[in-house]
Amino acid sequence: MSEAMMNTYARADLAFERGEGSYLFGTDGRRYLDFTAGIAVTSCGHAHPHLVKALQDQAAKLWHTSNLFRIPAGERLAERLVAASFADKVFFCNSGVEAFEGAAKLARRYQNVTGSPQRWKIITVTGSFHGRSMAAISAAGNPKYLEGFGPRVPGYETVAFRNTNELRAAIDDETAAILVEPIQGEGGIRPAELDYLRELRTICDEFGLVLVFDEIQCGMGRTGKLFACEWAGIAPDVMMLAKGLGGGFPIGAVLANDKTAVGFTPGVHGTTFGGNPLAMAVGNAVLDVILAEGFLDRVQEVAGHLRSRLEAIAGRHPEQIEEVRGAGLMLGLKAARPNAELIGALREAGLLTVGAAENVIRLLPPLTLSSGEADEACAIIEKVCASAARKAAE
Ligand SMILES: *Cc1c(COP(=O)(O)O)cnc(C)c1O
Repeated sequence: MSEAMMNTYARADLAFERGEGSYLFGTDGRRYLDFTAGIAVTSCGHAHPHLVKALQDQAAKLWHTSNLFRIPAGERLAERLVAASFADKVFFCNSGVEAFEGAAKLARRYQNVTGSPQRWKIITVTGSFHGRSMAAISAAGNPKYLEGFGPRVPGYETVAFRNTNELRAAIDDETAAILVEPIQGEGGIRPAELDYLRELRTICDEFGLVLVFDEIQCGMGRTGKLFACEWAGIAPDVMMLAKGLGGGFPIGAVLANDKTAVGFTPGVHGTTFGGNPLAMAVGNAVLDVILAEGFLDRVQEVAGHLRSRLEAIAGRHPEQIEEVRGAGLMLGLKAARPNAELIGALREAGLLTVGAAENVIRLLPPLTLSSGEADEACAIIEKVCASAARKAAE
């Protein structure tokens, strides 16, 4: 590991030289089945020919012009996102945390310009993750990420996840918005009940609050619908996207309905890189793949197959896996022993997975996963569980 790298990650001692679909090829000469997808980012698989071509074609023409000028591919991507969602307007940025900043600022500005300037506080829930800026760690309120960075940025109040009584009690005259992940990723693959999401919509309507969903991890087809909140049949006022939207190219986006989007007018918010021609070319290519006829149905099919096999494995190895949870291809195995041990053993056996809070192992394969590849992953998980059981018996 290079001493020149800032010491922010406990990286696995493994690097890759190439990727293809669901596989990564290590500099160690081995092939790995990639159930990290770069943390729910490379949803179309590695080196998808359509994405590669879109980026290469754009790279030869024009990279960057800034938002001083129109960017036709960005207008097209915004129109396509609007057509496929609740939203009327889109703001592009470069990452998830910037989508958080944009969404939080928009929620406050909306209240400000519509006659409620006293409303500036945002209610969030325990177990959430919204990125690593000062405001985002303050919003999520996770002590692990706040420690050593001084006082929490004011204006965020965290209440218990999936508890609407506590949430209602936290609302006061200064509350502007509620900001929640429909399925918590980093927090341990914790899905909100669909009724809870519907109740959030009701509460926001009742109190005139902005409902913001962070679908950075659970959106863009991850659950087998384009957005996770579609399962609840409700829409937020504002949605944060990033990760899967760029398929590996850094993109973030803030989607909003017309009502809320009045908060942003020229000069109020901005970005130098956001929505540049390279990112927009790739974003459109990602939508070509994900919105293709039948694609999301196939995600649901493969996900159902994967989940039933995982549940069978968990049933046979309760001493290794306590529970399978999540939705679509955003699945979590709650480990019965330290998740890092299992993640290491799985990697050794050729399957890459991601840790999460609550001792969970996240399975985030590309959405292009085949059922054969799902079977291959399950065979590896079964083998690792069986050999751990044997070792424990020795
Ligand atoms: C990853 C993630 C973020 C932060 O995205 P970055 O691109 O790392 O800034 C925010 N919210 C959720 C739900 C995420 O999964």
